[in-house]
Amino acid sequence: MKINFDINNIIRPTIKALKPYSSARDEFQGVPADMVFLDANENPFENGVNRYPDPQQGKLKAILSEIKGVSSKNILLGNGSDEVLDLIFRAFCEPNQDNVIILPPTYGMYEVLANLNAIDIIKVDLDETFQPKVDDILAAGNTKSKILFICSPNNPTANSFESENIEKLIKNFNGLVVIDEAYIDFSNEASWLSKLDEFPNLVITQTLSKAYAMAGIRLGLCFASAEIISVLNTIKPPYNINELTQKKAMELLSIKDLAKNQIQDILKERILLMEALKNVTFVSKIYPSDANFILAKVDDANKRYSQLVEKGIVIRNRTTQVGCENCLRFTVGTPEENKKLIKTLLSIQN
Ligand SMILES: *Cc1c(COP(=O)(O)O)cnc(C)c1O
Repeated sequence: MKINFDINNIIRPTIKALKPYSSARDEFQGVPADMVFLDANENPFENGVNRYPDPQQGKLKAILSEIKGVSSKNILLGNGSDEVLDLIFRAFCEPNQDNVIILPPTYGMYEVLANLNAIDIIKVDLDETFQPKVDDILAAGNTKSKILFICSPNNPTANSFESENIEKLIKNFNGLVVIDEAYIDFSNEASWLSKLDEFPNLVITQTLSKAYAMAGIRLGLCFASAEIISVLNTIKPPYNINELTQKKAMELLSIKDLAKNQIQDILKERILLMEALKNVTFVSKIYPSDANFILAKVDDANKRYSQLVEKGIVIRNRTTQVGCENCLRFTVGTPEENKKLIKTLLSIQN
């Protein structure tokens, strides 16, 4: 347990003083079903979406709480993880004053959101095996360092960070540690969700966009102490999760083993794809993957990327990312898509 961490010391003064907008739906929760609602200037004629959505997403959070084993008071939902991450910036980082630490090569949104919020970025590159350099990271931080972003499994490198390294960072960094677990359901490593009670400075983000096959509805999950969640709740747009998203998420989450089975299928395909990549002559290195994609080094990433596009296959060229020279990122697709990819890779190798 961190004794010297007090969330009140890192909330922006503006946010601490903020009086949130109180929506009509916030004021009347859990009332009798026959209550007549003439308070929100809605159109009264029912069509499934004529009412404002539940601003606290009570039913959806109850389902997620069950699946994730985390109490609803420790959950905040966002319009994608991107909104969750933006809310964290806005709650805790003072523009033109504070900074955050990121560990390149990593997910591009941390830097975009930092720039958007006028927050400085301290970059500490991962080592050659794509693991965080713990001592360098802790030495790089200063009194203005509010957030450390850890993406594990990491995008675009696909590996998980060693848990001892992560734990050392959580214990010794004097701000919030945000662990982005967008790919955790594909990983052999355990989620950090079970450690939430232990570390008051820990924030975990997940998403329904990857393993849960719902990128189109935009639903990001944030897990943290009740205090942190309460701060984020104060500043989130009142109706940030729309009715269609809440309904569709509940519908798909309630289908037993749907995600579990698809994850198993994707993991099987990942193995096949890795094996097949070994037979492609211009692939010189295949990195270990704990995610639903594979990073591979090739002879000439720009050339191979263009050849694939010409043949109707779009992958991600990561060659400009630090440590990823001539690297391509392949998302694991359906068996048919993967077969087409392999066939095409073999056809362009001469
Ligand atoms: C895909 C991805 C996300 C998901 O973002 P959403 O806004 O929830 O779709 C978050 N973090 C990382 C590292 C990702 O690769």
